[in-house]
Order: sequence, then structure tokens, then C-alpha cells
Amino acid sequence: MARKYYKVKTACPQCGCTELTTLTPEEIKEKYGDVANFDMECGECMEQYSADRKSACPEWDADCKLHE
Ligand SMILES: [Zn+2]
Repeated sequence: MARKYYKVKTACPQCGCTELTTLTPEEIKEKYGDVANFDMECGECMEQYSADRKSACPEWDADCKLHE
């Protein structure tokens, strides 16, 4: 089976810059854990914020629900 990649897109509430990361399911789990919110840190202003999993990566959110 081909390895699947997920695009995680978030926007910093402080400075508004967007971050787009492409991750494998293993990387997502390792980086953010199995939770409904991703803990993010802005690369521009270092603001820490949490991003809603559903809006950051709808595809991953849907797949998570399939596995539950
Ligand atoms: Zn920022």
C-alpha cells in the first residue's frame, strides 16, 4: 500500500502567517499526539497556539474518526 501523506495547514492567530506541513500518519501522531487539537508554535513570532484538527487537516481528522 502506498504511503499516505497529510497536509497540515495552520494560521498563527498572532501574526497571521500560515504554515503548511506535509506529514505521514506516524509523524502526525508523534508530533501532535492523538488529540483533537494540534499544539503549534509559530515560526515567525514564536506564538504558541492550538489549531483545531478538523480545520488544520480535515483529511486526517476524517481518517481518525474512521479508526475509532
Ligand atoms: Zn506568528
